Parts: sequence; structure tokens; C-alpha cells
Amino acid sequence: MKLNFCSLSSGSNGNCYYLGNEFHGILIDAGISATSIRKFLKNMEISMQTIMGVLITHNHIDHVKGLELLTRKNTLPAFTTHKIWKSILTPQKNISRDCIREIPLQQKFHLAGFDIEAFPVCHDAPETIGFHISAGNKKITIVTDLGHICQTAAPYVKAANLLVIESNYDEQMLMNGKYPHFLKARIRSDHGHLGNHQTAAFLAEIVSDNLSTICLAHLSKNNNTPEKVLETLQKTFSEKGVSLNGKPQISILNRTSPSEMIRLIV
Ligand SMILES: [Zn+2]
Ligand SMILES: [Zn+2]
Repeated sequence: MKLNFCSLSSGSNGNCYYLGNEFHGILIDAGISATSIRKFLKNMEISMQTIMGVLITHNHIDHVKGLELLTRKNTLPAFTTHKIWKSILTPQKNISRDCIREIPLQQKFHLAGFDIEAFPVCHDAPETIGFHISAGNKKITIVTDLGHICQTAAPYVKAANLLVIESNYDEQMLMNGKYPHFLKARIRSDHGHLGNHQTAAFLAEIVSDNLSTICLAHLSKNNNTPEKVLETLQKTFSEKGVSLNGKPQISILNRTSPSEMIRLIV
């Protein structure tokens, strides 16, 4: 069996990721407009009819912007925890009741040929989750918004063959940038976002033959560049004596346009 993964958009402008097998697909987050989601999928020749559901990580607008229309127009079921639904379902959000699916934390459920497990991560929302998704012998972990990699999240991150992980800000750019002090502190906190050095240091610790692809996600528009991400990763790996010779494959996800399709053979 073949698995296909790509990012439709990744960053504070909006997050949406696609994971599919030969028959069906799922979306992770709907943080761009439903129109853009449909357009990007169409351009990749992925039929909306094959999408079986959308998994939601938390209530921030860059993760739920298109959710209302996706549930209303496409009657797409949406999956997240009770606590996250409570934070999403405000009087202004008209999510179709038929599409609401509540999932437990750290218990597998099955959707579209995938075994999916949600796990908690530390971030400044009422609750935020990452997803660990298996199909056959392949495991995919997606963690896009987290201030640090806590003990609960770490095993899911370490177990991935394909890892989608945040590398949000370059520490120098953030500190020298124009953001007010409180915002800088929030971003850098344990419940904010992962900086390039944090992500690179963790990856250098966990890199193994099992980890075939790393997608670096959710780059800040104002406090990061793809060049800074790569430079930090290369420097940190070399300092820790870890070689980066084409494996794992590194992909830095575009902020506003779809990434290349990443293919895994199960
Ligand atoms: Zn976000
Ligand atoms: Zn967030």
C-alpha cells in the first residue's frame, strides 16, 4: 500500500495537512478557507469525495478557519476532544451538529484505513493535541503547535517514520524583532511554540534509521526563514556529531502553498 502526505498550508496564516492511502484520505486541521482546501486538493487530483474526515488539533483560528464551511457544505465529519470542541463551539461558529465527533485522548480510533491516536501537547489553548497515525508498519506523527516536547508527547514523536514537527521561530530574529515583550515571552514559553534550536536539538537526539522523513512545519512569517531552519538544523546536528546525508529526508513546509507530495510504501 502507498501513503501520500502533503501540507496544503503551514504556519500562523493557516494549517491544513493531507494524508491519504490508495482509497481514502483525511485532513489534519482546516486553518485555511474551505475554498482554498478544495482548490488545492483539486489541483493535486484528489477528490473531495475521498476525504473521510478532518482531525482538529486546537481552537486557534490558524487551525479551524475553514472548519465551518467544510462541515456545512461538504458534511465532513470533524474529530477532536470534548474539551477542544467546547473551545471551538462558540455562538458565532455554525458547525453542523451532524459532523461533530468526539475522540478520547490516547486511545486509538479507526478512520479511512488509519489507526489514529490523539495525545496532549503543551500550548496556549484550552487543550491542544498531536496525532499519531498508523497504517500497516508506517507511523506518522503530527505536532504543529507546542511550547516544549513533554514526556507524554515524546514517545509519539520518537516512534514516527514520518514526522511533521513545528520549527516556529529563529531565536535571534524573535528577540531582535518588533514584537512586544509579552508576546515574545509567550511564544518562547513552555506553552508557546518550538524554536529552531529546540526542534533541532530534539531531532538530533531521536534521529534513527526508522525516521525516514522530517517535515518542519508552522514557520513564523516574521521571525523565521526556511534558510534559518536549515542552517540551525545542520549546525546542531554537526555539533552533536549526527550526520545528515540525505537521511532522514528533510522538507521545510511552505507557509502559503502546498508542499511536494511525500510518498511512503507500507
Ligand atoms: Zn498554529
Ligand atoms: Zn496555536
